Amino acid sequence: MTTTPIIRIEKANKWFGQFQVLTDVDLEVRPGERIVICGPSGSGKSTLIRCINHLEKIEKGRIEVDGIELSGHQRKSVDAVRREVGMVFQQFNLFPHLTVLQNCTLSPMHSLGIAREQAEETAMKFLKRVRIPEQAQKYPSQLSGGQQQRVAIARALCMNPKIMLFDEPTSALDPEMVKEVLDTMISLAEDGMTMLCVTHEMGFARQVADRVIFMADGRVLEVAPPKTFFGSPQHSKLKAFLGQIL
Ligand code: ADP
Ligand code: MG
Repeated sequence: MTTTPIIRIEKANKWFGQFQVLTDVDLEVRPGERIVICGPSGSGKSTLIRCINHLEKIEKGRIEVDGIELSGHQRKSVDAVRREVGMVFQQFNLFPHLTVLQNCTLSPMHSLGIAREQAEETAMKFLKRVRIPEQAQKYPSQLSGGQQQRVAIARALCMNPKIMLFDEPTSALDPEMVKEVLDTMISLAEDGMTMLCVTHEMGFARQVADRVIFMADGRVLEVAPPKTFFGSPQHSKLKAFLGQIL
């Protein structure tokens, strides 16, 4: 396949002080690809995906998102990339003082300059999409964790992103709410969204991922389609990791 990658990460290196958190990370993602990233806690998974929308910056190497070079750190390219990349966090990060609807319309109105009526129409479309339109006038604290996370997904979609990043979106949820969030993510994947998901939900990885990535100690140690990844893991650290979580 010759499709141009929408994300191109070349020899990315990052330090927190003396501590090297990412070492020579290479990754290319094609439009519509679904990538699952897993690995032990502290291996640099969050840092890597945060670098993609420049919540963190690399010190060495290159990151290019949809043709926009991020290594230069110009404000303009950071803003441009953030418009294309939606992110969903473990802790939802909804604005507690705003209703569900206002959470979804804030950025479209203020960052994209979309008129309220249009922003609300789009928000309702995506709240329907995540199957909670009836919660639009409530505040986040009035919702369950699973509902809050679905609002967070709808909010990200309201910015019309080309890429969605998920950082352990189900880790803070009670077990009975995991499925409703995973189902939402599966439906996004089926619609062809380019997705990078940090998750330890290996059922999701098997079902949805085109490639699964294993990180440990700031390095990408293995990249393979799910069948190979789970069926014949190569690296001893991956074997040990799978032994612990499966
Ligand atoms: P993961 O998401 O795989 O658990 P992270 O990317 O969150 O890993 O963190 C990787 C390592 O970097 C950890 O050792 C963590 O303590 C460290 N780290 C993360 N963020 C910071 C920060 N802002 N300052 C210093 N160290 C950090
Ligand atoms: Mg993390």
